[in-house]
Amino acid sequence: MTVFHTPVLGRELVSALAVRPDGAYVDCTVGEGGHAEMILSAVEPPPRLLGIDLDADALRSARVRLAGFEAAVSLVQGNYGDVGGLVAAAGFEAADGIIIDLGVSSLQLESPERGFSFRREERLDMRFDRRQAQTAFDLVNRAHASELAELIRSLGEESRSRRIASAIVAARPIETTTELAAVVVGALGGGRRRIHPATRTFQALRMSVNGELDNLRSGLEQSSALLAPGGRLAVIAYHSLEDRLVKRFMAVESRDCICPREAALCECGHRASLKRVNRKVIKASQQEISANPRSRSARMRVAERLAV
Ligand code: SAH
Repeated sequence: MTVFHTPVLGRELVSALAVRPDGAYVDCTVGEGGHAEMILSAVEPPPRLLGIDLDADALRSARVRLAGFEAAVSLVQGNYGDVGGLVAAAGFEAADGIIIDLGVSSLQLESPERGFSFRREERLDMRFDRRQAQTAFDLVNRAHASELAELIRSLGEESRSRRIASAIVAARPIETTTELAAVVVGALGGGRRRIHPATRTFQALRMSVNGELDNLRSGLEQSSALLAPGGRLAVIAYHSLEDRLVKRFMAVESRDCICPREAALCECGHRASLKRVNRKVIKASQQEISANPRSRSARMRVAERLAV
């Protein structure tokens, strides 16, 4: 039996999108099709759905999971940072709901050769799209110490990034995930911690290899432009850097004026295009967290397109 990725905040997502049979939905990170399956089975007949992912393996898995909905679904390999182009190419005019579920899928973490996890020895890789040239191996073994320190600090929010970067440079070549984790542990010392000492460094490298924050920025902008009036955008983030970006984007796009507070008159001419659906961020219930620990850090924010 194939075990698929368990979708996070699935029920909350389906209810946030208010799925309609005549609606058109875009899943920017279709992964193994968990959320997509819930959207497609929420109403009868199933709505149209475009599923996007960078990862060909994920799409293969989604195709199997969504086989029962073949007529309603299109799946494409692509970057949601260009969701506008992908949607146009698929012949959708506007979307009634768009979802972005960030982070890594279980398939990626658990497949032996993807190089995301320090729980098993694997060659460093971390690419979502295996057609891409740059891997985590290249970054770890070729970047300057200062570049590594900067990205581990900014993308990993790791305060001891310089120490880690120097240890990495001294230990090169570093071939595998477990070697890298051991170098980070060596630099930071063991000690008891809530999370593994290498977690932040691995997060930073993965985000850099895949250009994750840039994709998120352009994905948010393009998604909001693609929504039909009343259409909804739901984003699930798994750490504070991503969640802050989503929160700020939705806050700015729901305001009419974004001039500095001290300005006497509005000079920006900015007009609200979104309305926040939930003021407070949506988190997983205790029950979901016990059943699926991956949902522990999930934060969902939802906004609705205004008729402008
Ligand atoms: N919601 C899915 C799981 C998504 S996991 C489910 O329920 O099954 C996140 C997925 O996002 C991964 O498959 C990853 O390959 C994909 N991804 C990450 N960045 C992407 C990008 N810029 N464009 C398209 N897909 C991306």
